[in-house]
Order: sequence, then C-alpha cells, then structure tokens
Amino acid sequence: MVVDTDDTMLFTYDMEVGDMHFVFDPAEQDVWVEGKKFTATPGMVDLVTTAQRLGFAVIGITGRSDAQKAASIENVTDVGYPGFTAANYYTKWPTGAQPSYISCATSSCTTVEFKAGTRRHLEQDLGYDVVLNVGDQWSDLQGGYADHTQKLPNPTYYLPSADLPGVHEPRLALAQPLHHEGGRLQRTRPGRRGHPEHRCGQEDHRRLLRRHR
Ligand SMILES: [Mg+2]
Repeated sequence: MVVDTDDTMLFTYDMEVGDMHFVFDPAEQDVWVEGKKFTATPGMVDLVTTAQRLGFAVIGITGRSDAQKAASIENVTDVGYPGFTAANYYTKWPTGAQPSYISCATSSCTTVEFKAGTRRHLEQDLGYDVVLNVGDQWSDLQGGYADHTQKLPNPTYYLPSADLPGVHEPRLALAQPLHHEGGRLQRTRPGRRGHPEHRCGQEDHRRLLRRHR
C-alpha cells in the first residue's frame, strides 16, 4: 500500500488555519515539518496499522523534500504510524539528484512523474505489487502503478499537476498501468473512443478502430 503524507497520514489543517491562514508559505511549512507538529489524519493510523497487521508493506511517497525526510518520518512515527524508515519513505530529491529510475519530460519532474515513477520503481525494480494507493490530491493517484486508488477528501486546497506525457486527463475510472516507451511513460491502452476530452494521435485512433472492429 502506498500512502501520501500531507492530509493523508498527517493533518495540516491546524497549520493552515493557525499560521498560514490558507495562503501556503513554504518557510512556515518547514517550521511545522521540522517541529514535527502535525497530528494524524483521523482514521488513518487505524487503516495503516490494519494493513500492516494483515501483512501488507506500507510505503510513503510524499512531495516533501529530502531535507525534510528525517523529521517527517519522526512525525509520522510519533503520531502512531509504525515501520517507516528512510528505506520505505520516498521524498522529493533536490535539483541534480534525480534517481536513475525516474524519467521525466523535463528536468523539473512534475508531482505525477515523481510519484508514478516511484510506484513504477516499486513494482518493476523492487518486486512490489501496489494494491492500493491513498492520497488527498489527484496528483497522488494519477499515472497508474496501483491496482486501486483511494482519494481522501481535502476541502482546504487543491494542487494541480500535469498528468504524465501522453495522458491528458486524470480520468481515474480508466486508470491503467503505464508502460515505458521511447523514454516516456504512456498508457498501455488509449482512453474511451469518442470521449470529448480525450485527445489522441493517429496511432491511437488506428488502435481504437482495430479494438472496436
Ligand atoms: Mg497530500
């Protein structure tokens, strides 16, 4: 099982309402992260510990930075999530330190490229099967490499992130595994024929026509 951190394992509302007043400030966020001041998101300690008791590995993937990794692991541990270490808790690398298993369209990877690419690494390099991916933002869940996704509510903020190259809409109902082709992650199959928001190339149309014959 893969879990996000902010507003998935840890609840940021107290920071938002108390200090930021709903205007995100990375310096202020770092004070909260390094101070390990976040409480657990209601219900999530039970979910994670139940999954672990049933034998599932639970792996963290967060957009927090590598510099915030140690404090983040301490925070989640302090509020009741057992078992997180640097080995199973993935944070975003600094410029120039991109892992070799991640490929992105540009040097600054999007959230979806980072998170989906990390899940791909879990499945294709480390031998895991991601059965459930849990997050509060759509960008936690786009890009495949999970058998199931669970979107948590977040009435406080929305973080837009472009989907993977070649994937234009976060249509999670059609979420499918991606394959690596020509240096880019792509869906293994194109979306539904005729979907007004699905923009696909001629090759996609040819494949769709073959499929529908
Ligand atoms: Mg989050």
